Parts: sequence; C-alpha cells; structure tokens
Amino acid sequence: MSKATHISGVVLKSTGSWYKVSTTEGMISARIRGKFRLKDKETTNPVAVGDRVTLRLEADGSGTIADIHPRWSKLSRRAAGRRATIEHVIVANVDMAWCVQSVVFPKFNPGFIDRFLVMAEINELSAGIILNKTDLLDEALATEMAWWKQTYEDIGYSVLMTSSANGNGITALKAALSGKINVMSGPSGVGKSSLLNVLEPNMGIKTGEVSDYTGKGKHTTTHAELWPLSDGGYVADTPGLREFGIWDLAPEDLSGFFLEFRPFLDDCRYPNCTHDHEPSCAIIQAVNEGSITPERYNSYRNILQTLKQGLKDTGR
Ligand code: GDP
Ligand code: ZN
Repeated sequence: MSKATHISGVVLKSTGSWYKVSTTEGMISARIRGKFRLKDKETTNPVAVGDRVTLRLEADGSGTIADIHPRWSKLSRRAAGRRATIEHVIVANVDMAWCVQSVVFPKFNPGFIDRFLVMAEINELSAGIILNKTDLLDEALATEMAWWKQTYEDIGYSVLMTSSANGNGITALKAALSGKINVMSGPSGVGKSSLLNVLEPNMGIKTGEVSDYTGKGKHTTTHAELWPLSDGGYVADTPGLREFGIWDLAPEDLSGFFLEFRPFLDDCRYPNCTHDHEPSCAIIQAVNEGSITPERYNSYRNILQTLKQGLKDTGR
C-alpha cells in the first residue's frame, strides 16, 4: 500500500525547533530543514504561525517542512535588540485584524483603536472593530456607541457589536471570522477570552488567558498561536500592540495611515506639513469642515507627539 509522502498544512504554533502543523491528516509535529534557516537572512523566523507549508512525512509520524508557500500578508515587527532592522513575522497570511474594545468596564478607548488601526495599515491588513459587552449599554451609551460605530464604518472599517454575556452579535461575529486567519488584540478585561469561549466552548481558553496590551499579570507570549475555529479559519492569540512596530514610524508618514486623511494630504501649503500647527493645512481645514472628526484628529496628534518624542529619546 502506498502512502502520500508529502502533505500541506497550516502552522499553528512554534515551540523552539518544532512546529505544530494542522493538516487533513490531523496535527503533525514538524521540524524545519536547514536550508530555510539560511535562505532568508532578513527575518528572525523563516517559518511563522499562519504559514502554509508542505511537509515531508517521516517514518516516525513527524514531518519535515519541505516548502513554505508564498505569503499573501503578514503581521510583523522589527526584532528587538541589536538586529533592529530584521523583521520578525508574528502571524503570516492574516486576513483580518480585529481590535476588541468593551463599551464600558474597561471604558471604551478610541485612542487604543486608532493606534491599532495605524498598526493594521502599516502592515497592510484589513481591520475591524469588535465592541463587546453591549449588554451593559444604557440609552445614552448606546447612542454614543452607535456614533462611534458609524464613524469607523464611514472610514471603511467593519464594526461588530457583541456580548459574550447575552449572546448578542455572536452569530455575526462567527460569520465574520469564519474561513479567515484572524488576529485579535485589545486591552485586558474587554472580553477577548470570553468571546472565544462563547464562539468555541471546546477551545479551552481560560478567562484572561489571551494576551493583552500591557501583558501585566497575564501570560505574555512572545510567539503567537493560532486557535482553529470549528467553522474553518483561525484566531490568533497575539502579543501586545506595543510590539507591533508603530513606534518605528517616521512622524511625517503617520497621516497616510489615517485612511480618511488621504484625500486631503496633497492640499496642504507645505509639502512637509505635519498637520499639527502649520498654516493652510488641508487636514485642519477638513476637521473644521466636518470631513474628519475632531476625535480622529485628536488621536492623530497624540500619536504624532509620541512619535516625535520617540525621535528625541533615541537621538535620531
Ligand atoms: P480579556 O482580558 O479581554 O480576555 O477579558 P475576559 O474574557 O477575561 O473578561 C474580563 C471580564 O469581563 C470577565 O469578568 C468577564 O466575565 C467579563 N465579560 C466578558 N465579556 C462580557 C460581556 O459581554 N458582558 C459583560 N457584562 N461582561 C463580560
Ligand atoms: Zn497639513
């Protein structure tokens, strides 16, 4: 009886030199072939979570990664330390990056969302927002949240309202995640673990187990892991946003990552306008005319300040 010697799959987890690969034959532990270590010097990890790979099946039931398929997207950061220009791919082949917020407890934080969206745009990822704990909305807060939902939808982002407590919006969330590689990030306590538990009760994620923004008091993975969804697709447990390299951004490049700013960027008087204080700034004019919300502009200025401060701190 002949058996296939090669099989393809998706890398779910990397633990040192072993990779957990999901295939039609089940989970296979695989090792990497030496040539991939040498081939790509620009990255710390030639094989990342989310990569599609071809495995050669070994007699002992393990696999050897014989080929890595081309990536269509990636979430990456610059590797820390001296090799600062080398890329570390956190998740390959990301279809959707979701920012999770709660409408209250912890308080809704648009600044977090806007930093997340900049990160997504830098990585050229499609992004969406999940507003959780809608069971806690009162009338005033519901009106406010409807405004935020509309604001982000107008810019072009998907916004889902969910409650892991009463199940509202969970069917829509399930449909939105299905068949995709999803990355989820959000501050601690917004309900990421609870949402995953409602979606996939058998996944066995403990409350508070999903990596959070600050990493305080939680397991802080430096490597992401993909959790398979029963409808197909995956959700990645990703490390904190701070790691994602937004702080490497040159201040003058920031405005292009605020999508609704783009149509105005060529109309400022000064080509190097930072849209902060300069006269005849088309962005400030767009804010005054209502084409850009003061809230988004405020986030822009906050991030701009952080980037400028970062330049001072590193003496660049
Ligand atoms: P994570 O840190 O983002 O993973 O958040 P958790 O899933 O650990 O949830 C933090 C707290 O919020 C827990 O006490 C949950 O029970 C609670 N929680 C999560 N989702 C909801 C929700 O939709 N509504 C309400 N009222 N509480 C929720
Ligand atoms: Zn300007």
